[in-house]
Amino acid sequence: MNAAPDALSFDALRYRADFPLLARRINGKPLIYFDNANTAQKPQAVIEAVDTFYREHNANVSRAVHTLGAEATSAYEGARDKLARFVNAPSRDEIVLTSGTTMATNLVAYSFALPRLRPGDEILVTTMEHHANIVPWQLVCERTGATLKAAPITPQGELIVERFIEMLTPRTKLAGVVHVSNVLGTINPVRELAKACHARGIPLLVDGSQAAPHMAIDVQALGCDFYALTGHKLFGPTGTGMLWARREYLAAMPPFFGGGEMIRTVSFDGTTFADPPHRFEAGTPNIAGFAGLGAALDYVESIGRERIAAYEHELLEYATVALKSIPGLRLFGEAKHKAAVLSFLIEGAHAHDLATLLDQEGVAVRSGHHCAHPLMKFYGVPATARASLAFYNTRAEVDAFVAAIARVRKLLG
Ligand code: PMP
Repeated sequence: MNAAPDALSFDALRYRADFPLLARRINGKPLIYFDNANTAQKPQAVIEAVDTFYREHNANVSRAVHTLGAEATSAYEGARDKLARFVNAPSRDEIVLTSGTTMATNLVAYSFALPRLRPGDEILVTTMEHHANIVPWQLVCERTGATLKAAPITPQGELIVERFIEMLTPRTKLAGVVHVSNVLGTINPVRELAKACHARGIPLLVDGSQAAPHMAIDVQALGCDFYALTGHKLFGPTGTGMLWARREYLAAMPPFFGGGEMIRTVSFDGTTFADPPHRFEAGTPNIAGFAGLGAALDYVESIGRERIAAYEHELLEYATVALKSIPGLRLFGEAKHKAAVLSFLIEGAHAHDLATLLDQEGVAVRSGHHCAHPLMKFYGVPATARASLAFYNTRAEVDAFVAAIARVRKLLG
């Protein structure tokens, strides 16, 4: 197999040393952490940023004029600047800081979709969505009499783009698509979908949870209207994330929840709201978390996302060949454009048994429905096991993983 030159010069072991947790042993074996799509491990720089925030800068944002208040505000607002650069947003004011993707999709559901939906209207997503890009739409559809539709995929796990486009109708008020599937690894053709949506005046939301840690994101080049991501999969702290939205949409959106930090004036006769993005950030946010997310973005940028993508692609190809050589192994998701996620089952074994036995071998993989019930239904299985890789994983770990599966097969057989 020919690896891309960038992939060959990539020193995963060097980066690996930045992640203290990866040095752990589990059940007497070196940890092989292959559950990165669930949550990623944190580099020292992120751990230190959170630690330093609490040791040296802790205060609330925007409410205090004292030095610590200014420092806390600058850590929080600094994360907004970094996120804006990270996704190439035209303006930092288009970045709403959220607790993650789930909060971001709910914000769009309640502030954008709910006021616009009428009975008979439609929202279109795909069969491979995470529940975070399904359930919020169902909730607002129930309230308004609108309908949620899902475009089909092929057995290889690719979106049938023509069907998606055909399913965009004059009644479609919003479309949503996952950029990279957390189960199949499929990379969806967002630019093409955005073009088709815009030709019909339909805004497109992209769930970038699994894309952001593994490739360069440029919301202007993608041409979408909303882009959501979550910090903890991006090597940052839990409880952080963002929604990017076009300025004109944010400006037209009423607040979704209210309280401190999001108002201009409050009286019992009526309240006026701050401009976006603060209008959508009621209450005290996860300030230390955003200090950590800022450090995570710097860390990822210091490696380079193109280099990460090239290395992970090579690792994916290596792991795919290795897994396919295992008798009785069924791989879910063989899209042409794919990120390093490998969902699989072994004949006669339940996914949970596989994951439990692999844990005995020090290998952390996820088993379950991966918050994608409709996708499991499509494949006719209740669950899969899933290995999801990051730039700190290595070919040697893939080899150890495959050897562990062989031992597990014997135990189950
Ligand atoms: N979308 C996708 C594709 C995901 O993989 C996840 C996390 N598993 C989410 C959305 C939800 O992210 P969070 O729970 O951090 O809001």
